[in-house]
Amino acid sequence: MPAHSFPQRAALPAPENRRERTYRRIYPMRVLGMGLGGLAVASVLFEQRAPWPLWAWMLASCFAWPHLAFLLARHAGDPYAAEKRNLVLDSAIAGMSIPLMHFCLLPSAILATVTTFDKLSTGMRRLWLQSLPFLFGGMLLGTLILRPQPQLESSLLVVACSLPLLVVHTLSTGLGSYHLLRTIARQNHLLEQMRRTDAQTGLLSREHLLEHAEAALRGYARDAWPACLVMIDIDHFKSINDNHGHGAGDEAIAAVAQAIRGCIRAADVAGRYGGDEFLALCLGAPPQEVEGIAQRIREAVLGIRLGPAQPRLSCSIGIAALGPGISDLRAWLGAVDQALYRAKAEGRNRVARSEPA
Ligand code: GH3
Ligand code: MG
Repeated sequence: MPAHSFPQRAALPAPENRRERTYRRIYPMRVLGMGLGGLAVASVLFEQRAPWPLWAWMLASCFAWPHLAFLLARHAGDPYAAEKRNLVLDSAIAGMSIPLMHFCLLPSAILATVTTFDKLSTGMRRLWLQSLPFLFGGMLLGTLILRPQPQLESSLLVVACSLPLLVVHTLSTGLGSYHLLRTIARQNHLLEQMRRTDAQTGLLSREHLLEHAEAALRGYARDAWPACLVMIDIDHFKSINDNHGHGAGDEAIAAVAQAIRGCIRAADVAGRYGGDEFLALCLGAPPQEVEGIAQRIREAVLGIRLGPAQPRLSCSIGIAALGPGISDLRAWLGAVDQALYRAKAEGRNRVARSEPA
């Protein structure tokens, strides 16, 4: 019987809580779904002038069972597992209702479809498959007990009483899917933002910065559009960690990131390459101009004051412009890394440009 696939809002509490509360979320949906299913079954029973035991069964399964299912899950040691059992029992009840209605085609098809759809929309792994033997088992059991004569056609009354379940179920599951898709879109956006950003500094992540660099390489190949990579590495950073603690090291990284952000132009992008290394991409500027930007960064880092007892910072910077010798990202990163190495080797706190090939 239709149980719960009416609107389901996503993005709620912590996963464990949410799992625990599954039965609470399903309860009102089961009351509504079973109630509307009961209306369809009642219309067939009414037409067939069914005896009272069949009415009693219908009333118990459609109007009492949802509350009993709630109590069973609520008092179970594992409410989630109990609710899973309830859901397959819903299918068994729906299966038994089909011979009860003498296989009347329209309400039978709606009940079987809706109850199976409900299992799919829980998102519980393979639940819909597990529920099928219960659906058919219920149908077989009902057939063996009642031995009904098939009466496939539906009167207008039966059609009218079956439609509310179909309409309400379709609209509400549509609404549930809509909310779910909106939530997924929001979460995907958030994930993408997190992927693109280095959480510690707020600069671009290495991965995203390298995507920009790939795009710059394509721009250079197409239109000879100039671009420079600038690699910045804090000098003797390890000694800051060793002598002043990792907290001071983290503050230094954040301050250098801030200094870099303050020195690059609006057209440039900067990211954390890893550890105490940063990478900026300056677009559309010749190497001489980029060297000026790099010198500004170097001076800004020299000017950082973390606190009275904290060490002074300096950084070394390598620059590599796109040119004939650089065919791919690997070569470009190699060139800027070499330039940085030279700046370190020549005494640190300086800027070095890679030699054109
Ligand atoms: P050089 O002048 O040659 O660059 O020397 P260095 O000490 O800066 O070089 P090295 O690359 O060996 O040191 C980087 C250290 O940065 C090693 C690592 O433990 C530390 N580190 C990496 N990421 C973080 C971070 O997020 N926070 C802190 N506090 N330390 C970090
Ligand atoms: Mg360093």
